[in-house]
Amino acid sequence: MLPTETSDVTNGNMNTRNLTFLSISCLALAGCFPEHVERTVAGTRVVTLQHDYTNTHAIVGGDGRIVLVDSGLERNVPALEKALTASGLDPAKVVGVVLTHGHADHAGGAKAFQQKGAVVIAGAADEPLLRDGQNDPLCPTNADARGRLAGDQAERYQGLTADVQVTSTTSLLERTGLDAEVVAVPGHTRGSLVVRVGQSVFVGDLLRGSVFGSDAEVHFYMCDVEANARDVQALLARWPDVSTWFVGHFGPLTRTAVQARFGAKP
Ligand SMILES: [Zn+2]
Repeated sequence: MLPTETSDVTNGNMNTRNLTFLSISCLALAGCFPEHVERTVAGTRVVTLQHDYTNTHAIVGGDGRIVLVDSGLERNVPALEKALTASGLDPAKVVGVVLTHGHADHAGGAKAFQQKGAVVIAGAADEPLLRDGQNDPLCPTNADARGRLAGDQAERYQGLTADVQVTSTTSLLERTGLDAEVVAVPGHTRGSLVVRVGQSVFVGDLLRGSVFGSDAEVHFYMCDVEANARDVQALLARWPDVSTWFVGHFGPLTRTAVQARFGAKP
């Protein structure tokens, strides 16, 4: 395990340093990524825990309560709880889990946290995926994804019913104590959500980070790439003060990086 990196990313420049750190570490350690990286973005404390190249973001409130954005693969729940503890966080203080969507690598661990008392928040339109614990038909966008398709499509997890089923913009304050809004952005799945907290947004698989470096990329699986670009552009316009985009895989990304890849062409 690599040491936890703590940094203040109130401006975009820090992200480049973070990602350079990750890249150098991975090159040095043959593909290894840190299990947890802590960042503070304009007062919002975020610990990103990574297993099987999938991020779970722990947003930590001033009172120690934790809201997770995504829950990783079901088989990684023990490792996720261990990583929370290693980050100085108490897994028992997870009061809420927001699922950006119902794919197995994001929703797989949700049932375990729900059984321990956390409120699970998910898009209403992903209810069939959560109920059955399986992915919808995936549309690969590159050769790597085509090579992984059979395995990713076959992933399963313990099904569940979300406690809060989001259909329109929803505040998390009452249910979790976190001053955040959840917005439905269908596209990657029908029930995909994004979460905005202060100057950060958590977008799941709306887009992804590059494997090395700090670029924004189209996600590995996206059925309508043109509509996806329009969705990203709409969020850039909606939240001009958001500096940091936390994604489901690699990242995080600066607003500048997202604009460079997805911004409207003149
Ligand atoms: Zn996904």
